[in-house]
Amino acid sequence: MTKNYANYLLLISVLISGSILLQMIWYIYSLTSNFDIRFNLFQACQQLFEMFGVPFLEYILLAFVAFTLLHLLWFCMIQIKKLHNLRTKITGLTCSELSREWNSRFQTNRIHVIQCEQPFAITVGFTKPQIVLTTGLWDILSDEEMESVIYHEFHHSYQFDPMKTFMMELFAKVLWFLPILKWLAQQFSIVREVLADNYAINKSGQRLHISSALLKMINSKQVQHPASFVSFADGSINYRIQNMIEPNTSNKIKWPLVNSAASLSIFTLLSLVFSKLLHY
Ligand SMILES: [Zn+2]
Repeated sequence: MTKNYANYLLLISVLISGSILLQMIWYIYSLTSNFDIRFNLFQACQQLFEMFGVPFLEYILLAFVAFTLLHLLWFCMIQIKKLHNLRTKITGLTCSELSREWNSRFQTNRIHVIQCEQPFAITVGFTKPQIVLTTGLWDILSDEEMESVIYHEFHHSYQFDPMKTFMMELFAKVLWFLPILKWLAQQFSIVREVLADNYAINKSGQRLHISSALLKMINSKQVQHPASFVSFADGSINYRIQNMIEPNTSNKIKWPLVNSAASLSIFTLLSLVFSKLLHY
């Protein structure tokens, strides 16, 4: 697995979602401004419903498009609110001494240690992602394991993984009728974690510490979190363990035949509808 592979997954997701969402916005705009658009899938569907004499379906289509766009706004607002609440919580619980010690150890200002018994490590924020570690980690991890976990989180921070994860989960949730987006988000989550593990292994020079840290943390309880941050013991555990035991086998990813076929069918159907309409 390479950084390019992660970027391709993100690019495909953005291209598919962007084209559908832009068409939806364009469609709503054309309805409110009487602007005539020449190439729009949703307007094509609307014309098809008119042609077959089922105008009530036009209202269902309009409701569907409006609901999708409102869902998009709602999801963004909820995530921003959760992020804001989390930031307030982090500020209130920060352990200044431990934070200072580990920031000077890594010569950074991105590490925040907070008072919490539950052991977890997360990277949070969109523009300059910050690493949040709980004091509970020091109860279960050795110093070397802590360093490996921090290197892992640094990789998420440098790669802007919270922002990328947020975008992919947003698209997968809002455009639920294209199952390929869910698969792309799941794949991105796996690649993201494996790349961060590999970065930690390269930096620390061995697999042992990150592997033992991962095993200790998956045995502890994990909290539910918003899509705007990434946690050390997130999903994809099987792939990560496999990657640590046999590094080359994690390249073998099964392509989602069912999801791709379903998404492709939806696209083909819409394209057929559209091409038929062009002949009228
Ligand atoms: Zn991670």
